[in-house]
Amino acid sequence: MIPFNVPPCVGDELEYVKQAIDAHKICGDGTFTKKCNAWIEERFHAQKVLLTTSGTTALDMAMLLCDIHPGDEVILPSFTFSSTATAAVLAGAKLVFVDVRPDTMNIDETKIEAAITDKTKVIVAMHYAGVACEMDTIMDIARRHNLMVVEDAAQGVMSSYKGKALGTIGDFGCYSFHETKNYSMGEGGALVINNPDYNERAEILREKGTNRAKFFRGQVDKYTWVDFGDSYLPSELNAAYLWAQLLHADEINENRLTSWHRYREAFLPLAEAGKIELQHIPAECTHNAHMFYLKCKNLEERTEFIRFLKKNDILAVFHYIPLHSAPAGEKFGRFDGEDVYTTAESERLVRLPMYYGLTEDDQNKVIAKVLEFYEK
Ligand SMILES: *Cc1c(COP(=O)(O)O)cnc(C)c1O
Repeated sequence: MIPFNVPPCVGDELEYVKQAIDAHKICGDGTFTKKCNAWIEERFHAQKVLLTTSGTTALDMAMLLCDIHPGDEVILPSFTFSSTATAAVLAGAKLVFVDVRPDTMNIDETKIEAAITDKTKVIVAMHYAGVACEMDTIMDIARRHNLMVVEDAAQGVMSSYKGKALGTIGDFGCYSFHETKNYSMGEGGALVINNPDYNERAEILREKGTNRAKFFRGQVDKYTWVDFGDSYLPSELNAAYLWAQLLHADEINENRLTSWHRYREAFLPLAEAGKIELQHIPAECTHNAHMFYLKCKNLEERTEFIRFLKKNDILAVFHYIPLHSAPAGEKFGRFDGEDVYTTAESERLVRLPMYYGLTEDDQNKVIAKVLEFYEK
């Protein structure tokens, strides 16, 4: 069976995990967490980065830092993972879903302004497949209407928009290091803070409502409970695993991109013949090959396609069931405007096996079977 995903492992993860154990420091914010934060800050020119326990909790932090009050609205795409939405709900917001663009499956920036009301507080830009949303337009809308922008860059680590790393453009950026993402620590994530005014509040929120981070820097002589908070610190064992991956970040990225381009080249004739549609990468975007997806003619063909691949020991998957049509989406939100593309396009989309270390042999099998399916 050719799996859909294999968690990334470069080989020296265990060595760093052992170092954490030998140093008798396995709780949060030790050497490895600090190294990872600093690496991301430096590499992506990020003002401040804090590792978290997941991409979801990075989103939770971002939404809490946006200071949402009950009844405030958050604008987001319906074609996204539940985490994007539930973070806003936990912070007390109502969800306002906006349609996606069919070419990138990102939020349609031209439909955002019509969804803004006097309750709107935040726009969430989820960079689907690690390909950036139209950020110049989104930032311009946000500044004119005095709104915050949270980037759900869970899939966008190592991607950029006009040369800027995803996650560093809005007020906050959120990364995921789940095992299904390009870089992993099992479960984990990071919050990127792009406005230094939020640094201190973010540290307090992350450290159970205490000013412990300030205490460790010697800026206060004892630490105390100063505000509400939670615990968003990953263990050093997880951070050590991630550290190994970050040291090989370019190698992982290149490996994925090679596979991505091989798929693309192989399927270009099918796309040119009008049998499938391939992903569009806008000129402003450099992507990280998080995903390789194609679009079938319709839901029926996709079901058949996935079944055919499975019969041939290849796992291909689809996502997402649009959030506005899910039970929680109906309860917590509304769709603004018309759902032209969200539902229709999500029903055609299918993802092929894509992971660091996908062998050429396995990839050739996938390619051959896809071509065979469309020859019939
Ligand atoms: C993976 C993902 C998340 C959640 O990340 P976790 O680390 O699994 O909590 C959030 N948003 C999007 C778009 C994702 O793909």
